[in-house]
Amino acid sequence: MPKFYCDYCDTYLTHDSPSVRKTHCSGRKHKENVKDYYQKWMEEQAQSLIDKTTAAFQQGKIPATPFSGAPPPGGAMLPLQTSVAHHVLECCQRPLWAVLQ
Ligand SMILES: [Zn+2]
Repeated sequence: MPKFYCDYCDTYLTHDSPSVRKTHCSGRKHKENVKDYYQKWMEEQAQSLIDKTTAAFQQGKIPATPFSGAPPPGGAMLPLQTSVAHHVLECCQRPLWAVLQ
């Protein structure tokens, strides 16, 4: 009969049967280990996210204040958007001018 290995407790149960597993998993020690395991995992995830964000910032991939309402990076797009806006504006106003003239 194979032993049951508990990842959280980093230990083997001497007998692998549903009742032994259930007893182990409802134990206080196991629950603490599960809590620690996920806490550590979340801290690692958060830390790696912080590291990635910091690295991206240092490489200039993201602006220093992404939520300040400043225009997005990539200024080349801006003149195009502006000219499109003017064009749309002209198209819309032309019939009105025609009426007035
Ligand atoms: Zn366990």
